[in-house]
Amino acid sequence: MSAASLLFVGFVASETSDRQTVQSEKQLLRNVLAHRLDLLSQEQLSLARSDHTVASLVHSFDVQYVRQSVSAQWANYGHNRTVVITGDRIIRAESFDDYTHLTSAPLESGTAIEDLFRQVQTLYMANRVRVPGGFGHRSLQSLDTDDFAVAGYTVLDNRVAMISAVPVMPDGRTTLPDGPAAVIVSAMFLDGGMLRDLNGDLTSDNAVVAELNGALAYEELKFARSMPDLPTTPALEIRGLDGTLLGAFQWQSRTQTSSIWPTVVPVIFVLSVALAILAFGIAWRIGRLNASLQLSEAQNRYLALHDSLSGLANRLQFNRALETALKSGADTPFTILQCDLDKFKAVNDTYGHAAGDEVIKAVAQRFTAAIGEKGLVARLGGDEFAVLIYAKLPRTTLRDLAVLMIRSIKEPIALEGGNTAHIGLSIGIASFPGDGKDPEALMAAADRALYASKEAGRGRAAFASDTATADAGSAEPSNTTFGIESDAA
Ligand code: GH3
Ligand code: MG
Repeated sequence: MSAASLLFVGFVASETSDRQTVQSEKQLLRNVLAHRLDLLSQEQLSLARSDHTVASLVHSFDVQYVRQSVSAQWANYGHNRTVVITGDRIIRAESFDDYTHLTSAPLESGTAIEDLFRQVQTLYMANRVRVPGGFGHRSLQSLDTDDFAVAGYTVLDNRVAMISAVPVMPDGRTTLPDGPAAVIVSAMFLDGGMLRDLNGDLTSDNAVVAELNGALAYEELKFARSMPDLPTTPALEIRGLDGTLLGAFQWQSRTQTSSIWPTVVPVIFVLSVALAILAFGIAWRIGRLNASLQLSEAQNRYLALHDSLSGLANRLQFNRALETALKSGADTPFTILQCDLDKFKAVNDTYGHAAGDEVIKAVAQRFTAAIGEKGLVARLGGDEFAVLIYAKLPRTTLRDLAVLMIRSIKEPIALEGGNTAHIGLSIGIASFPGDGKDPEALMAAADRALYASKEAGRGRAAFASDTATADAGSAEPSNTTFGIESDAA
């Protein structure tokens, strides 16, 4: 899932980046071409915007000047073609790549050159100004070529060329007569050396240097009359002065996709696997943490409700059980046996506190064995225990149970150190609802009976109902208690 997301994001990002790369490459090429075209017009001006040229071409025709200057133009700037046409529509000189030749051929209509000638005349007429003695040109002082040059692309000798045509104009001291201007046309073929000039020579080791010098340095840059076969190949269309499509520059874009994916895909794969392992690890840790939390929560719950030494229910659990039993109402009577060990302190004093702890554990086991499923045994604290009997048991059964408990505690307790502890048990018995209708009253009644048992000599039990009357009226409560002698009786 995350791998797919990463791939998708990568794909979208690379597509966008590729599109932007091609767009900026196109724009750069467009700028370079516009600049070269402007330069072409400006280069022509060194010849066309000159009093000397006006004198040698317009006022009289100086063959020597034309031969030298036109040749010079070709030589200096590397223009492939230069054509000189006088205002009377006669082609006076034509320079080809390696020679200049003089002619007096009339300008044929319908040719690209004648079309340019006419456009230049329109521009010239619009921008010429009347000056004393004839005409000049109003934007002669500026370098803005648009006011006098017609520049663009056309087909010349069956090849697409960058072309510029300018009128011959004075630069201040002489003037032009009325009538059409003489025109100089210069052209550079797009499929010729101009391309290397614009792009730098990539076959040489100096491609980097060419790029640093402002050349494009595009891979496989070429100009073709046909459009590229692949729609994805970047191409910059070139249109003629009349808007017809002449062909397109094509090149190998520097888009990063092809070089990026072989690196990115394995990285995404490795990342995704790492992420999956991490996620699995985290899930496993969380699972373990959860399990240990549940365990610790269960332990906490147990500790909150149990006495840590004896493992019996603690006072909190006993109180809750008591409240639950009370809520069940008068229909379900129950009984509390309040217990306190006799002479327990002596074990501590004689054998030490640890021995006392052993005795408490042994007592807990004996109580649990004696009560079984009949009720809940709790350690309320110190040597104080309590039993909650859920059912309504007959008095005789309760009596037997108390005797059983006293008897079991009276049995000697073997201590770890080899000593033997001898203790006893006193019990107070209170039943709901007869001895009390709330926890406090019931516990107080059980305590009272327990006290009576202690008073009567320990190792005995007493019913709260018996001791209540005994406490109130008799100073001799011992006869209301019972011990293991009654077992025998
Ligand atoms: P009586 O017959 O009147 O009940 O006297 P007794 O010796 O049993 O002493 P009493 O019930 O008054 O006091 C209980 C003693 O139990 C006091 C205390 O030192 C001891 N004790 C309380 N809790 C612990 C415990 O957790 N471990 C041990 N070893 N002793 C405890
Ligand atoms: Mg005691």
